[in-house]
Amino acid sequence: MKKIPVAMQEVIDNFERLPGIGPKSAQRLAFYLLSVPETVTDDMGEAIKNLKKKIKICRECFGVGEDELCEICSDSSRDRKIICVVERADEVMAIEAVGNFKGVYHVLGGVINPLEHIGPEDLKIKELIKRIEVGGVEEVILATNPTIEGEGTALYIKKKLEESDFKGKISRIGSGLPMGAELGFADQVTLSRAFEGRREMNV
Ligand SMILES: [Zn+2]
Repeated sequence: MKKIPVAMQEVIDNFERLPGIGPKSAQRLAFYLLSVPETVTDDMGEAIKNLKKKIKICRECFGVGEDELCEICSDSSRDRKIICVVERADEVMAIEAVGNFKGVYHVLGGVINPLEHIGPEDLKIKELIKRIEVGGVEEVILATNPTIEGEGTALYIKKKLEESDFKGKISRIGSGLPMGAELGFADQVTLSRAFEGRREMNV
């Protein structure tokens, strides 16, 4: 069998590290890149190089931005009384694309998942409670995905909020999203409905 050249194999190995990319797809992508002009691969390489250099994690919401405080957190027109809690930063983008949420966000960085050894201490839950304890927050929308882990994480945060001094409303995004769905992949209409249909989590 003919061996794949080293430089090619390196690209394939790197692609294989990406979520959802198996050996076959990695190989296909690498061969595709060989067929495009060098300027395209240069631009791609440069963009990837800049990703970690130029993108910062917001110190307030843990979303992504270009400064210490992201665009949303530094926007004085956003309603700080409502915090929408999501699993990942890309879900902030998905909700922003719908455009009707005017509050602020809190990115957990994942969900509680005992099988993957991810506990509450691995997520930005403590930081969320701290943010809320400063005061002024009237509603916390738990917008974790409607998966078993997402529901479990929402319940955990709800419990923590109840143990804290928080007196506001705790709501959960509505049933518009099918069980197992992911916010980041939902279409705008569904996402919009899920927000409008959010309901208070009863004790
Ligand atoms: Zn932020």
